[in-house]
Amino acid sequence: MKMCTPTRWLGARAVAVGSGRTGDCSCFCVTNFRNQPIITTTISATPRGTRRPFSVFYSYSSPFLAAAASSSSMPYDKELAAAKKAATLAARLCQKVQKALLQSDVHSKSDKSPVTVADYGSQALVSFVLERELPSEPFSLVAEEDSGDLRKESGQETLKRITELVNDTLASEESDRFTALTTEDVLRAIDNGKSEGGSVGRHWVLDPIDGTKGFVRGDQYAIALGLLHEGKVVLGVLACPNLPLTSIGNNQQSSSNEVGCLFFAKVGDGAYMQSLNGLTHIKVHVTDTGNPEEASFFESFEAAHSSHDLSSSIAEKLGVKAPPVRIDSQAKYGALSRGDGAIYLRFPHKGYREKIWDHAAGSIVVTEAGGIVTDAAGNPLDFSKGKFLDVASGIIVTNQKLMPSLLRAVKEALNEKGSSL
Ligand code: AMP
Ligand code: MG
Repeated sequence: MKMCTPTRWLGARAVAVGSGRTGDCSCFCVTNFRNQPIITTTISATPRGTRRPFSVFYSYSSPFLAAAASSSSMPYDKELAAAKKAATLAARLCQKVQKALLQSDVHSKSDKSPVTVADYGSQALVSFVLERELPSEPFSLVAEEDSGDLRKESGQETLKRITELVNDTLASEESDRFTALTTEDVLRAIDNGKSEGGSVGRHWVLDPIDGTKGFVRGDQYAIALGLLHEGKVVLGVLACPNLPLTSIGNNQQSSSNEVGCLFFAKVGDGAYMQSLNGLTHIKVHVTDTGNPEEASFFESFEAAHSSHDLSSSIAEKLGVKAPPVRIDSQAKYGALSRGDGAIYLRFPHKGYREKIWDHAAGSIVVTEAGGIVTDAAGNPLDFSKGKFLDVASGIIVTNQKLMPSLLRAVKEALNEKGSSL
């Protein structure tokens, strides 16, 4: 019991249900709608001659306290809201650039600068929005770009274009709170991404445009944003501006032309998808098939990023009949999380080291949708070692039922190829 004046009821939907006398005190009990006591109040009789009319003692029952604490802020709730906002704004910026790029002539399509501008612009925007939305948290961001080239004389024109693009996006999407960023603000926001990550504290992990090859071709790309806490991915958001809202899997005809998906997941809370233009979301699950003949698999569009020969040998050993679905970026993780396909195989060529920003967001979306993400030897991915993921040979993703046979097929195919795990 503690003595104080109750000033608020912590949002409880409660009704007072009676009182009783205990000696010279009145006791009131407040319950919830299931008649469980949540607050007990004791009003003591006023001793003659004292100035205070009465004293109020109250106590909260512990289940109520727990409920109040959890309903006021679930872990990572505000971080998730900020991440969704940041990724959505960055997606708007990238959509604008991709549209202009695809309308441009052949000559300027081979010019790399639109991608550069969108890459930097997306990173600046995500960094700016996260820092603005979460002012009370120390801010650490691991991301691909730094502002070195933009600070040179030769980078001034590009920096101006990036700043205009960031400001245009903020002005059109957040007109009510818009104040223009300067070029210096943009440089600073980009340089926030210099963190090395690691196993201590919190680090945002960003790929501002994952799948730049797809972005240039007019195909799939993603803005991929994850949060590490003590080396573990605790939330992830994948904005996939060109991904249809309905299945892209083999044998499945897309029933709508609408594109633009936002996948998001928080540790222990499931995975969800909404339209990039919408507010309502649905829970997503990986497919639960255990039959490889019903399973199709995703892989990189670019053979330079993942061995198509090896994945076809794995698929054959496993008994997968369907041809591969080849798309760029972590949109593969998003599509898999809603059951468009059952497997994702990624086998980079010798010497390539995977970066954490290419898997952080995607892996939690799939894991929270019930899937498993491991390296080719079945080890979980370790995001706690800095910018790189040290994986054995490749990364494989599927559901619980198919994983044991997939691991066997991978081992066999790698042995045949002469690669050791
Ligand atoms: P994807 O679109 O799935 O092929 O993967 C795109 C990502 O692959 C890019 O964001 C790069 O970080 C990464 N990447 C770049 N070069 C390579 C490479 N040689 N092998 C594997 N991945 C690469
Ligand atoms: Mg990438």
